[in-house]
Parts: sequence; structure tokens; C-alpha cells
Amino acid sequence: MNIQKNYSTSTKNCLKNSVVIIGGGPAGLKAAEILIDAGFKVDLYEAMPSVARKFLMAGKGGMNISNNEPYDVFLSRFSDQGNIMRSALDMFSPNDLRVWLQELGVDTFVGSSGRVFPIDMKAAPLLRKWLYRLRYAGVNLHMRHKWIGWSNRNDQHLLFDVEGEIREIYADNVILALGGASWPKLGSTGEWVSILANQGVKITPLQPANCGFDVNWTEYFRAHYSGKPLKSVSMSFDSITGVSNCHKGELLVTDYGVEGGVIYSLSAQLREEIAIKGFVMIYLDLMPNISKDTVISKLERDRGKQSISNHMRKQLGINGVKAGLLREVINSSCFSNTSQLGALIKSLPIKLIATRPIAEAISTAGGVSFIELDQNLMLINKPGVFCTGEMLDWEAPTGGYLLTACLSLGQAAGIGLIKSCERKQEG
Ligand SMILES: Cc1cc2nc3c(=O)[nH]c(=O)nc-3n(C[C@H](O)[C@H](O)[C@H](O)COP(=O)(O)OP(=O)(O)OC[C@H]3O[C@@H](n4cnc5c(N)ncnc54)[C@H](O)[C@@H]3O)c2cc1C
Repeated sequence: MNIQKNYSTSTKNCLKNSVVIIGGGPAGLKAAEILIDAGFKVDLYEAMPSVARKFLMAGKGGMNISNNEPYDVFLSRFSDQGNIMRSALDMFSPNDLRVWLQELGVDTFVGSSGRVFPIDMKAAPLLRKWLYRLRYAGVNLHMRHKWIGWSNRNDQHLLFDVEGEIREIYADNVILALGGASWPKLGSTGEWVSILANQGVKITPLQPANCGFDVNWTEYFRAHYSGKPLKSVSMSFDSITGVSNCHKGELLVTDYGVEGGVIYSLSAQLREEIAIKGFVMIYLDLMPNISKDTVISKLERDRGKQSISNHMRKQLGINGVKAGLLREVINSSCFSNTSQLGALIKSLPIKLIATRPIAEAISTAGGVSFIELDQNLMLINKPGVFCTGEMLDWEAPTGGYLLTACLSLGQAAGIGLIKSCERKQEG
């Protein structure tokens, strides 16, 4: 999008302002694009030797960049953050994102359950084209510059650690796009939390989102089944608010517990339940496509001299990790009681005792509180300093929502900076 239009005097004066963006993930790069297109001089600083490492990692298993579901449903995926998320997404919607990608030369397709992917499913070709365009437009990229805070002069003097040497850099306006704290080896370490908190900025504690959970498996189960997927199961849990949630999909058994799409989609609620009660019970339906009565009637068929394991395999197709899980969780006496066994196949209780550490999570919940920001994403108590992307206090499940939101918020911060700068010039 080129927002360079007929400049008013106030906008022309703004363009004399220097802009520093810190953090070269999708949010920071999108803000850079908006500002360079508007005619600003843009310098982007990144701690790592190259930008967008998490973005590239997101492309490893197939880059799910957005979602094609109806816009109201799309908006409902975000934790309730009032108008700010909505107005960012209104300015750069999932449809706008697909148009933007097409302009970059990246065609997309809609996969199962509305997920949107680049045709080649990869992030690297997209990033290459995008960086070429940003550099060509004049964005100056500075690698290996780790922001460590402000000098004691004022908010316009930034301090960077450049391979052990401390440098002070001046900027009229700053956009912080520092990411969350998951996968810190890719650059987003969450170290900014203490810097901003020390300046009096309210930060909602960072927590794992879209994460795995710990289960106290026995050594036997761990040794035999870790790494095995539980295919087409559905999962439910009763929350303390009384709401029963049910999701269908795949769950991966790991040596520490469980991972995978079906649990990621409920991870926010599960995390909250654990925070309150110290654990949460989930219930797996191992045969979600047939009713409990059908399961029981199949189990009740004469099995002759067959073992119950063989009978379950032949009648219901339950074997491997599903059979192992039943043996792990339920008392051996239940195997001779077909109605009890059938009920447990349809609703097998598993106790989740903790979330996995944030470093292993796909994304981060918590961050800079929205009450600290004006509608332009500027810190109310730090004029000229804007925050954007995953470092803000929102969360969403996997399914393309995270990247769309980060790109929208990056664009919103860029436009917000232009607006607040113009307002300052006029007033
Ligand atoms: C394994 C994995 C798979 C994922 N898959 C998907 C997916 O398919 N779809 C989807 O929508 N989302 C996915 N995500 C999430 C998505 O990648 C993130 O939500 C998104 O990258 C966040 O963008 P951001 O720009 O806010 O932050 P980041 O991408 O984290 O970028 C922040 C940047 O700031 C830099 N930085 C941090 N601190 C400093 C500092 N002090 N000084 C200078 N630079 C600093 C970091 O090095 C980093 O480059 C995935 C995440 C992971 C980990």
C-alpha cells in the first residue's frame, strides 16, 4: 500500500523526523513498509544477524499466514482487547493481506478449515521478495543491534549493544516490535519486559500460548508411545465457569505430556484452569464418529476366546497408542465391564498438570497492556514511542490468526506514528 499522497505542510514537516523501528519480525517490517512508502527515513534495528527468524520458522511446516473464515468469526478468535485489535484488523484485514501478498508476487490458496497459505507453503521466498522491496525503497537495516533501553537523557536517546559495544542512537519516533518470548533462540527473548516495566509501563505477565501440557505418564507409557499421534480424537473439558468445550483433531503424545492442534486451540482456557485449580481434567473421545451406544454394543458382541485387546481392535479399530492410552489411564477391572469400557472410550479422563515452558510455545499471551496505549499504539506516558505485534497483550489460537494480527498491528503502528506526528505538527 502506498499512502504517499498530496502532502500537507504538517506532513512535510513530519518527514524531517527520524524513525527507528526495533525488531525485524513481521510487525516491525510492516511498520517499516508503511513509513518508507509515506516518505519517512526509516532505520530498522535487529538484535540477530538476520531479520524475521521466527517468521521463517513459521514457514517450516507450511506457512499458515491467514484464515478465510467470515470476518466476524475471525475477529472472535482474539482475546477480548476492545477496539485496538479490531481497528488494526479493519485497516489491514485478512483479505487485504492476500491482496498485499499478491502485489508482492506471492499467490495464496485456501486450505482445509479456511486456512490461507502461500502456494508454495514457504516463508523464505516471500521474505526474500519483501526484503528486496523494503531495501529498494530505502529502509536501512542494521543487524546485531540489541536494544537495551534508553540513555538517561530522554526517550529519544536509545541505547544498543552492538557486539559488546554500547552505542547511543537518536530517534524522534520509535516503534518497538520486539515479539513475545517463545522460541527465544530465534531472537524474541522477552528481555524488553524489564526495560519497559522499569519505566512504569504496565505489562501483563508473559505466558505460553498455543503450548503443550505436562501429564504424569508412567515410564512404560512414555517409553512405548511418546512421539505417537492420537489421530481423529475429540477433546473436551468442563471449565469452572461451567462451559463445556469440545474440539476435534489430532493430539501428539510426548514424553512430557501432550502437544498438537486440538490442545493448542484450547490452551488459553486450559492454562487459566490450571492457574486456578493446579490441574485440569480433559476428556478424550477416542471414537468421535460413533455413538457411545454403538461402541458398547460392538464391545458386547461375543468375543469367544479372544483377548479384550484383540476384540477392541477388531470391533472398533482401537489399537496402538489408543489402546496403550486406555491401559495407561483406566483400571484393569474396567476392561471386563463393557458399558464402563465403552463410556471410557468415549470420555477418557486425562489430568493436565502444567503448561510447557514459554520457550517451547508457539506464541505468547500477555505483554504491553492496552491501557498504556493510545489509539495510535503510542505509549501514553512516552510520547513518540509506539509498541506493536506480539509484544502487546493479546492472544489467538493457531490457524493463521497470529501472523495476520502481527502484520495488521505493524501497519497500524506505522499509520499511528504518521497520524500522531501530523497532529503534533498541527497543534
Ligand atoms: C514454531 C513456530 C511456528 C509458527 N507458525 C505460525 C503459523 O503458521 N501461522 C501464524 O500465524 N503464526 C505462526 N507462528 C507465530 C508467528 O511467527 C509470530 O506470532 C510472529 O512472528 C510475531 O511477530 P512479531 O513481529 O510481533 O515478533 P517476532 O517475529 O518475534 O519478531 C521480533 C523481532 O524482534 C527482535 N528483537 C527482540 N528483542 C530485541 C532487542 N532487544 N533489540 C533488537 N531486536 C530485538 C527479535 O530478534 C525478532 O527478530 C509460529 C511461531 C513459531 C515459534
